[in-house]
Amino acid sequence: MDPGTGILDATRPLGVYVHFPFCRARCPYCDFATAVRDPIPHEEYTAAVTAELAARADWFRGTSAPDLKSIYFGGGTPGLWRPAAIGRLIETTRRLFDATGPLEITVEANPGELTAEAAAGLRAAGVNRLSLGMQAFQDHLLHSIGRQHNVAAIAAAVDAVRTAGVDNLCADLMFGLPGQTMDDWRHSLVALVALSPEHVTAYALTVERGTPFGALERAGKLQRPDDEAVAAMCVTTHEVLQGADFEHYEISSYARPGRRAVHNTLYWTGGAYLGVGASSSSFRPLRDGTGWRFSNPRALATYLRSAAAHGGNPRPAKIERRTAGDLENEGLWLGLRTSDGVDRAAHVRRYGCDPLSSPARAAAAHKCVDAGWLSIAPDRLRLTVTGFLFADEVSSRLWLGD
Ligand code: SF4
Repeated sequence: MDPGTGILDATRPLGVYVHFPFCRARCPYCDFATAVRDPIPHEEYTAAVTAELAARADWFRGTSAPDLKSIYFGGGTPGLWRPAAIGRLIETTRRLFDATGPLEITVEANPGELTAEAAAGLRAAGVNRLSLGMQAFQDHLLHSIGRQHNVAAIAAAVDAVRTAGVDNLCADLMFGLPGQTMDDWRHSLVALVALSPEHVTAYALTVERGTPFGALERAGKLQRPDDEAVAAMCVTTHEVLQGADFEHYEISSYARPGRRAVHNTLYWTGGAYLGVGASSSSFRPLRDGTGWRFSNPRALATYLRSAAAHGGNPRPAKIERRTAGDLENEGLWLGLRTSDGVDRAAHVRRYGCDPLSSPARAAAAHKCVDAGWLSIAPDRLRLTVTGFLFADEVSSRLWLGD
């Protein structure tokens, strides 16, 4: 299977994701593709990613320049990447995709590691959005989840971001942490609002099997809030942030007016994305209604070896040809994650059918309405606020098999 084959659906907007697989220390709950290296091999990794961008750009270019919307540096901790290297990658991406206009360019960073100098360097390199992994506003909770920063470092990092002239700040917070109470969570939300970020993502801690937290949980040594308490924290997040004029526009995402995340929105709305770097994923939609999803090797050494052996274009570790039916299911599932929901007319234009044209799905959808999870209007399907808590359940009920 070759994800470069088939004619690109060039009508879709495009985002570029760049993975930086290094961190200063490994958090015990983390399942991401990242490693602790000292020193970080900046030059070697930057060269590999730059070559991969050049090798794969043709796959994401139609006959005219694509509508590039965003570049997202995720990880790992790309805030540790030398700003000059990030600047070179931004320039390369702009050149390869003939992008001269404004782009959302995000870098993820950690408080305690993002110095004023690094923030200024990133801004000078063209970065206009920083995403800070704040996670909690209690030193004991930060310590218990193995973070390297304390609460004082959060305010210092926000200062560095603002002094550098970055006016788009995203704050990541986590709930459902070991030992966390509802009072802790409410305090974190209020403290965060006082720092005036433009965007907030709030995730429940998930414990993966292969992590130190997974081992602790199996041994019965990880005491976390139960499902009911976690659901109540979700509701509190909605109440506090909506009360502070944030729009709850996706299950885990809140934004000030006009500050929705451009890059993540591409994921939820069927946009194309090119992922480069170890473990990154890509989606290449095709004009015939099918599409390629593929991802790079997760292990850094495998990624670098494969890239070197194939002219900068590593062999994907996983490739899937998604059928038109798969993509229609995904379009519904992803659309329901957002407060905009699924625009029925747009769904017909893209997938050739109304989302409720299947009698089996329509029946399942009406049961979700009866449960108070879904609303069905002539123009749109939407999850209710309660439905956001049951999004996976709703999606699996509406998923159509072959
Ligand atoms: S900083 Fe982020 S990516 Fe790095 S180990 Fe911690 S959770 Fe994982």
